[in-house]
Amino acid sequence: MANRARLRLFIAIVMVLGILVALVWVLSRRPQTEQMATVTLPPTANSPGVAPVAEPSLTVPSPLPSVESITVEPTPLTSPAAPPDSSTALLIPVAGVRPEQLSDTFQASRSQGRVHDAIDIPAPRGTPVLAVSDGRIVKLFQSVPGGTTIYQLAPDNKTIYYYAHLDRYADGIKEGHVARRGEVIAYVGDTGNSGAGNYHLHFSISIVSDPKRYWEGTNINPYPLLRGR
Ligand SMILES: [Zn+2]
Repeated sequence: MANRARLRLFIAIVMVLGILVALVWVLSRRPQTEQMATVTLPPTANSPGVAPVAEPSLTVPSPLPSVESITVEPTPLTSPAAPPDSSTALLIPVAGVRPEQLSDTFQASRSQGRVHDAIDIPAPRGTPVLAVSDGRIVKLFQSVPGGTTIYQLAPDNKTIYYYAHLDRYADGIKEGHVARRGEVIAYVGDTGNSGAGNYHLHFSISIVSDPKRYWEGTNINPYPLLRGR
């Protein structure tokens, strides 16, 4: 009988414990779902308030770096473009001619006591004539001594490059065209007073005080500028 009483007590304790566990489980689930609901609700309630705060802070810094990158990039772009424009980096204006093939004829005498004031670069007829530097073509001129000629103004607005005895202009070459360094602007010929069959480019460099008066300049020797590139 004592054993039975103990068994009943044990069962009663187990049942009570089971009920307690079940109660604790039910009670613990309810607050959790309520807490979950209250926890998940604040973020949805806060997120509209948080998002507008975060968005302006994102949109404000983003224009600033893009403005900086825009203002910084053009400066390196213009500065590497500037050195080739300078007269120290002139391209030899006849295709395929190497610096050591040039001869200095700047002081050579010409008819009527004139001095050459230029360089002659012999080449077969039709050899491409290249722009020595970037620069606007300010005049295409048919000259009695020079024949078919080109006047090109350097970006410094005071240096004139003069190409003469040309056979013909390259396609698309007209006054106002900004030729790039190395661009084919014409072809070697023997026009003007070159002498029939004496195919060469007559090239000179002059410094003008007024770019509108492109023909009134003081000639400087192109030879060291073409050799020393
Ligand atoms: Zn000449």
